[in-house]
Amino acid sequence: MDIGILALQGAFAEHAAMLDRLGAGHFEIRNRAALERPMDGLILPGGESTVMGKLLRQLGLYEPLRTRIAGGLPVFGTCAGLILLAEQVEGGEPCFETMDIRAVRNAYGRQLGSFHAVSLFDGQPIPMTFIRAPYIGGVGPKARALAQVDGRVVAARQDNQLVTAFHPELDGDLTVHTLFLDMCRKGGGAQAAS
Ligand code: GLN
Repeated sequence: MDIGILALQGAFAEHAAMLDRLGAGHFEIRNRAALERPMDGLILPGGESTVMGKLLRQLGLYEPLRTRIAGGLPVFGTCAGLILLAEQVEGGEPCFETMDIRAVRNAYGRQLGSFHAVSLFDGQPIPMTFIRAPYIGGVGPKARALAQVDGRVVAARQDNQLVTAFHPELDGDLTVHTLFLDMCRKGGGAQAAS
């Protein structure tokens, strides 16, 4: 199992630590050369979605990654990563537009931007840390909500795409990463990008 982690900026090292704990191999994606390595899945970390979107294009990563994601490569987006995958983005520009959700950016305002909650994820209670997080303001028919906090959807899945508005890589709970690795094991990835 080899997971590519987009490492242009933001919280990518924390995802690597979670994958280490689960015994999954991983490597950082900072340029096109990294895409020659076959990957079973891709993680888009938290950070600043506008900056990541610009860097993806500048570095020539946008098209090859979009093609891979649209072609079924398992992908897990946290926070800014969720925004990158959303077809619609309120308060920002859409990027990959592969997931049938509407992300509401900086949804909790600047003052209340960061908070912690415990809520059900796919039926199981887990800790959830939110940092200037988006929420999912709309889940289209192709996607399915997996978690809600205060009546707002904060996690969703559509086929091989998984997103959380919160940061499971910061809480030490392995539930979400375990689900993602399960998706990767079932396939869709493992070819190098052309
Ligand atoms: N507010 C950030 C954005 O819009 C996301 C914050 C995060 O990833 N922790 O990109």
